[in-house]
Amino acid sequence: MRYLIPTPIIHIVLVEPSHPGNIGAVARAMKTMGLHRLVLVRPRYFPHPLATAQATHAADILEQATIAPSFQEAISGMQRIYATTARTRSLAWPSMTPATMSRDIAALPPATQVAIVFGRERTGLTNTELDCCHVTCTIPTAVAAASLNLAQAVQIIAYEWLIHAAPPPHPPRHQTPLPTQHDLEQLCEHTARIMLATGFFDPAKPRRLMRRLRRLMAKAQPDLNEVNILRGLLRAVEDHLDLPHPEAQRHPAEVAPALPGQPPDPQPHNNHEG
Ligand code: SAH
Repeated sequence: MRYLIPTPIIHIVLVEPSHPGNIGAVARAMKTMGLHRLVLVRPRYFPHPLATAQATHAADILEQATIAPSFQEAISGMQRIYATTARTRSLAWPSMTPATMSRDIAALPPATQVAIVFGRERTGLTNTELDCCHVTCTIPTAVAAASLNLAQAVQIIAYEWLIHAAPPPHPPRHQTPLPTQHDLEQLCEHTARIMLATGFFDPAKPRRLMRRLRRLMAKAQPDLNEVNILRGLLRAVEDHLDLPHPEAQRHPAEVAPALPGQPPDPQPHNNHEG
């Protein structure tokens, strides 16, 4: 899914990649995260069937990739250049994480030409190449100075950019209205009544049952339809057992004041966390 919001124009620059499969995997990683511009500096093998095979549905990115004869030529038109590196260098470059780099990119003026540069599989980037970059970016790893596979590094950086730059790609989680706190409290009260009436809940041994039930509701975050389904089920149980519907005769105002912060446990219970 693509977004028509003005953002900087990001180029993924691979310097002298030696494995064609990695180039294809990079294209795939880019495509899944909405990046399209791939620049290859003196790739050892390209085009190559292995690259195409690894790219799967991202063959278009390979077809449109720019081949640059030198690193200098690849970056000459770029306005902001980030170098990714697994190593912390002796001379300290300004260094960012993928998240801070993404925020940095997002703050650039729209249509800024941005390069995110990735080094050779075996040796990374040279210090001379780093000299031409404005900032370095290192993906944190559990082991000091651990290097990732080239395409995996691109995947993480591209993912981080996606979540910083774009609104969430999914439709809103709730299509139907959410219940009010009052609706939820009524559901809890209703459940408590049924639990009591059926003997499931023994007031002599409350064991924080209602608190657990509330937590379950909080975790599930049901929408209003789902709450109504549960209420309907509870009502059917009441009918089946020939139980009264006390709430039906009560005005909502009678129910509401008893609700927030006052759990409907039939048994007094303590306020300790459980
Ligand atoms: N042995 C090389 C690592 C090469 S991995 C070295 O020591 O530099 C190939 C490329 O993937 C790196 O040049 C860098 O662009 C990227 N990469 C791998 N691991 C990374 C990490 N932890 N953080 C940022 N980039 C990384």
